[in-house]
Amino acid sequence: MTRTVLIIEDNEQNRYLLTFLLERRGYEVRAAQDGPSGIELARRFEPAIILLDIQLPMMDGYAVARALRAQEASAETPIVAVTSYALPGDREKAIDAGCTGYIEKPIDPETFVKQMELALVRGGKTAP
Ligand code: MN
Repeated sequence: MTRTVLIIEDNEQNRYLLTFLLERRGYEVRAAQDGPSGIELARRFEPAIILLDIQLPMMDGYAVARALRAQEASAETPIVAVTSYALPGDREKAIDAGCTGYIEKPIDPETFVKQMELALVRGGKTAP
């Protein structure tokens, strides 16, 4: 079974890199450049995993995570925040917003897919 990953990321180079790394490992990828279109793609395609940038225009990743949790199609989907924010408390903020796991940028091409898979295993369910 092919697993679909939805990438919500405004930076074109990061979208390209993540898509390349995931497709190479057998994932099917869909991508959105902003929160509202990502939320819509999540509703239409029900991906197995969502990779969510936190620094997005208009609607930040925390707001996107809350909206994804509020719609039935993505209420239970694992969401992994991918962010360059590295302040203490940012991980907790992402988890509080509904994210399952958290990966810090810069993206390491050698280990990213493994990090994503580990974030899913470690993350488990988040409290409502
Ligand atoms: Mn960004």
